Amino acid sequence: MTNSNIFKDITTMIEYYRAMGFDALPITFGGKETNSPGSGSNGDVHLRKLREEIGDCKRCRLSEQRKNIVFGEGNPDARLMFIGEAPGRDEDIKGLPFVGEAGVLLTRLIEKMGLKRSDVYISNIIKCRPPMNRDPGDD
Ligand code: SF4
Repeated sequence: MTNSNIFKDITTMIEYYRAMGFDALPITFGGKETNSPGSGSNGDVHLRKLREEIGDCKRCRLSEQRKNIVFGEGNPDARLMFIGEAPGRDEDIKGLPFVGEAGVLLTRLIEKMGLKRSDVYISNIIKCRPPMNRDPGDD
């Protein structure tokens, strides 16, 4: 799914809820996890273990040209997760997901939903940038 499809889906969802009379998405964030993301909660522990397991991954050819593995960021216990296809140039440089032009748009959409970017978790299916943003290969 391309970024523009993701944004179209999100926009459609927001418009649906607005038509239903909601000012924000009916998602509640409560409890310790939301107030202190990354503080040793279950999600945080699992994500840290997974990140350790990946290490300096060279399991596929995308490792050859990447600058950084873009693992993901946000609230490890988020109830809402955005998953992109693969990191682009800006993401590869910074090692963070959705930080380029698409990231600005995504952040704006998240805020329109009545949330903060730190309330959700953002990642990509592929963790390393495919050269020239080509489609990932079979490996
Ligand atoms: S894309 Fe995934 S499997 Fe390939 S090198 Fe990066 S982290 Fe490893």
